[in-house]
Amino acid sequence: MEQLLKQTLQEKYGKGIKEASNEEIYTALLCITKEKMQGMKRNEGEKKLYYISAEFLIGKLLSNNLINLGLFDETKDVLEKYGHDITAIEETEPEPSLGNGGLGRLAACFLDSIATLGLPGDGVGLNYHDGLFRQTFVDNKQREEKNPWITDKSWLTRTERHFEVPFKDFTLTSTMYDIDVPGYESGCNKLHLFDLDTVDESIIHDGIQFDKNDIKKNLTLFLYPDDSDENGRLLRIYQQYFMVSNAAQLILAEAEEKGYNLYELYNHVSIQINDTHPTMVIPELIRLLVARGFNMDTAVDVVRKTCAYTNHTILAEALEKWPVSYLEKVVPHLMPIIRDLDARVRRDFHDEKVYIIDKEDRVHMAHIDIHFGYAVNGVAALHTEILKESELKPFYDIYPEKFNNKTNGITFRRWLVHCNHELSDYLTELIGPEFQHDAANLEKLLAYKDDEEVLKKLRSIKKNAKISLKEYLKLTQDIDIDENSIFDIQIKRLHEYKRQQMNALYAIYKYKEIKKGNLPKRPITMIFGAKAAPAYTIAKDIIHLILCLQKLVDSDPEVSKYLKIVMVENYNVTKAEKLIPACDISEQISLASKEASGTGNMKFMLNGAVTLGTEDGANVEIHELVGDDNIYIFGAKSEDVIKLYDTAGYCSRKIYEEDALVEELVDFIISKELIMIGDPVNLGRLYKEIVGKDWFMTLLDVKEYIKTKEQMLEDYEDETAWAKKSLVNIAKAGFFSSDRTIAEYNRDIWHL
Ligand SMILES: *Cc1c(COP(=O)(O)O)cnc(C)c1O
Repeated sequence: MEQLLKQTLQEKYGKGIKEASNEEIYTALLCITKEKMQGMKRNEGEKKLYYISAEFLIGKLLSNNLINLGLFDETKDVLEKYGHDITAIEETEPEPSLGNGGLGRLAACFLDSIATLGLPGDGVGLNYHDGLFRQTFVDNKQREEKNPWITDKSWLTRTERHFEVPFKDFTLTSTMYDIDVPGYESGCNKLHLFDLDTVDESIIHDGIQFDKNDIKKNLTLFLYPDDSDENGRLLRIYQQYFMVSNAAQLILAEAEEKGYNLYELYNHVSIQINDTHPTMVIPELIRLLVARGFNMDTAVDVVRKTCAYTNHTILAEALEKWPVSYLEKVVPHLMPIIRDLDARVRRDFHDEKVYIIDKEDRVHMAHIDIHFGYAVNGVAALHTEILKESELKPFYDIYPEKFNNKTNGITFRRWLVHCNHELSDYLTELIGPEFQHDAANLEKLLAYKDDEEVLKKLRSIKKNAKISLKEYLKLTQDIDIDENSIFDIQIKRLHEYKRQQMNALYAIYKYKEIKKGNLPKRPITMIFGAKAAPAYTIAKDIIHLILCLQKLVDSDPEVSKYLKIVMVENYNVTKAEKLIPACDISEQISLASKEASGTGNMKFMLNGAVTLGTEDGANVEIHELVGDDNIYIFGAKSEDVIKLYDTAGYCSRKIYEEDALVEELVDFIISKELIMIGDPVNLGRLYKEIVGKDWFMTLLDVKEYIKTKEQMLEDYEDETAWAKKSLVNIAKAGFFSSDRTIAEYNRDIWHL
């Protein structure tokens, strides 16, 4: 590496390693790594997977690629020898803006594990130029800015693949870009991102506004363009079809190039449909096969044996239903096929709940996936059970054999080895390096559960991570935090079901307690990070509340000695990597039954945080693994919640009126203290929402939440006992390696 780096820097900049700037070294390492990956063996086989997803939240790639190529330690040492710090060099890499939250991050972890297990499998998606917006805070509110990330510093390689994608009024020619996905000490796969040469970033103005009608210029500008008006919704259909038509054409082109018999496509290809966004790949593939001479029955049969669907949510509003009239406006050539599929369903089943086109002429995308795919999976045990027993019960009754669970996972290369070198190195020293290949080996750590030395070392590693985070927050947001305080962290997309508002009510509780003189034994640092969808009003009001509380506490010298509230700006993968190793308390407080799995919960656990959570998503499995002593569970159970919805039995106003403490906390949202700092419109609207509706039942759980968190803070003071909990969490995290998840997908669904 030393020779290569010397040579590259000399050729590019006429400089030695010592004199080169961080940017120059980054660029040189990018070149070297790209070339190494080009020379790598491709994962190959008789059958290949295509993982189609609207999002790939891949994060920065330099360190991870170096780790997977086995070059990280060497590179780090070479840089140190010449006085450079690899962390500072990483800072110059732009984070690709190709995803939104957990679903996109899952796709990225999966690509890493697919390559690592040596399976042939590529990702297929779109090359959004500005992806998801960049978040800034102005006047205690979220502002959305564009987020350009494609430069000569990114990992994209333009290819010679182009396809013609037909829309109603015009045909567009795509260009495929590739990003290499090297496995950990294994072969290489690719992420294919389709784009349009005519896209024009200069049409963006005033933050993230643009002409939604100009498809040739706007098609791949943004991920999830605002769909609060019809043009925005049509644009989403344009994007989805562009993605899947390219995917389908690529799949058939590669199959034909390999000389496969398309009548046996399913022996050579599996297509994983990540949530409903890529659903149109089903009618599109049927269309393309019919164009190649297949009769309809055969085309449907072949496609059905090729496609599998992953469900990520039971929130009804998130299950896509497109009006027939919209599809007619964008992709009229798919409608005859969709109508034919609907007719097949109506012929075989006499239950409107499973029809593809409903009475209101809306196309239910998930229904296409379930009828015309061969597998349907949920993403955590509880989630899959809820799908089978309630949300998708009519489908489970028809196709019990299609349903299966694949509990999500995370790649340990990024979420341990890369983001927490000190912990990873220490674990290697203690239990050997095997856990890096087979995460189940982390359980060897349990042997040290009562070893004072080990517990002390784990505490010191946590402390160092807290100090690193302190330095990072000082540098990036000029915020001071105290590494001796308890770090309580909730970082995830902002959504009412995730209940950041409940955590904000805790902050109000603690503020008031301190005001009353009930001082905590140790200061608490409450850290939030979350973007709200630009059109999601209440979510933005919750951000406003948190930012106002941050100001209130900061300006009160009495309280700020004991409590600090921090909202991290522009939460993304890079920030997650800094925050997670430093966490003591992992906030996973969604309303039971609503969080399909969560993966943030797994990252925190792996890095030694203790979970404060509801029995929801993968929290249930974390609870089973670590046992009652090493997790703090509170709140209504999913059966109770489902019953409350079914019987319309929840009334937040009743709780508010009957419980003095709840009333006091909620009233504080519109107190004179907060109104002086914030905007009465936003705070008033949020107050009204919580008292009058509270769809995700914050007030149902808030008191037990406060009580449980108080218990946790008290237990933290027994440092040895806490370190033991931390150790057990790390030791039991092996199950959540995405290598395990992918091995299961392959065993049960893909058969590569
Ligand atoms: C892991 C991750 C998520 C998902 O977090 P949840 O707590 O599971 O919702 C979202 N965003 C980023 C940047 C992540 O790394």
